[in-house]
Amino acid sequence: MSPLAPWQQRILDAALASLAEGRLGHALLFTGAPRMGKLEVAQVLVRRLLCATPGADGLACGRCRGCELAAAGTHPDFRNVSFIPVEKGDKLRSEIIVDQMRELGPWFALTPQMGGAQVALISPAHALNLNAANALLKTLEEPATNRYLILVTDRPGRLPATIRSRCQRLEFRPPARDEAVAWLRARGHADAVLGPALDAARGHPGLAEDWLANGGLALRREVQADLNALATGRQSPVPLAQRWLGDEQAELRLRFAAELVLDGISQRLAAGPASGLTLPADFQKLSTWFDGVNRAREQLAVPVLRHDLALAGLLLEWRSMFSEPAMQGARR
Ligand SMILES: [Zn+2]
Repeated sequence: MSPLAPWQQRILDAALASLAEGRLGHALLFTGAPRMGKLEVAQVLVRRLLCATPGADGLACGRCRGCELAAAGTHPDFRNVSFIPVEKGDKLRSEIIVDQMRELGPWFALTPQMGGAQVALISPAHALNLNAANALLKTLEEPATNRYLILVTDRPGRLPATIRSRCQRLEFRPPARDEAVAWLRARGHADAVLGPALDAARGHPGLAEDWLANGGLALRREVQADLNALATGRQSPVPLAQRWLGDEQAELRLRFAAELVLDGISQRLAAGPASGLTLPADFQKLSTWFDGVNRAREQLAVPVLRHDLALAGLLLEWRSMFSEPAMQGARR
């Protein structure tokens, strides 16, 4: 396992300190943006909770029977709750269902087989459907000694407030810029590229690294060029919509399109340097467009919709924002 990043280590240290002082909640909610390392930290904590003889550093010893079983994925007092396969076929469900939660209550009522803690890790917790969330609530209402429920999600707002309010929250926030820069440098990224990547990722180092490694920044520049070309009539909405949706990068393109508009608006409001994306000054229309792109992003998950038509409509709106006479004077 690679060492934890400083912002991950801080959260782990806080959780271990709470545990040592007997203040660790029986229900924990790990939240924060994707790629902040929530699951990694949760797993380190799970291994500590399952260890019979933790070290002086407060971590799992790595040698006891509990640690061996945890490493093998066969610890009887641990449940990993995530997506299970659909009834027919080998595809995974897209939500966590009530049966998975109903099993947890009676399981938590058993005496732990290894005599230590019992731990259930639910990830991604926002995938709990309504019935599953209600069933989980019942388990949360009956806290017991040495039983831990760990929920991991980057969308805590999708969990019922009744669940959130019963959890101790561990929130992963983007670190200070210096720390993010140092971490990316240490992972071999040059200053010339890591700065723009961190800006694009709004300070989230894990996301910046992902984009550096997988061509995300190049895709962002491509989206910017496409929007510029559309505005000046060098691109047409329909083929562009088809191209944007043509591969598995569709969601990321729409994310970048929305963020470029947002960046352009804030830069214009701050009268800072141009973003490379020429925007009309009609903020009302731009914000409507921003909302539309975000809606289109969410709807990508719904297979039956004609995403190409919806997106072509949005791109047409984009072009028309630049061709209206009232706008043209405001282009500079
Ligand atoms: Zn151990």
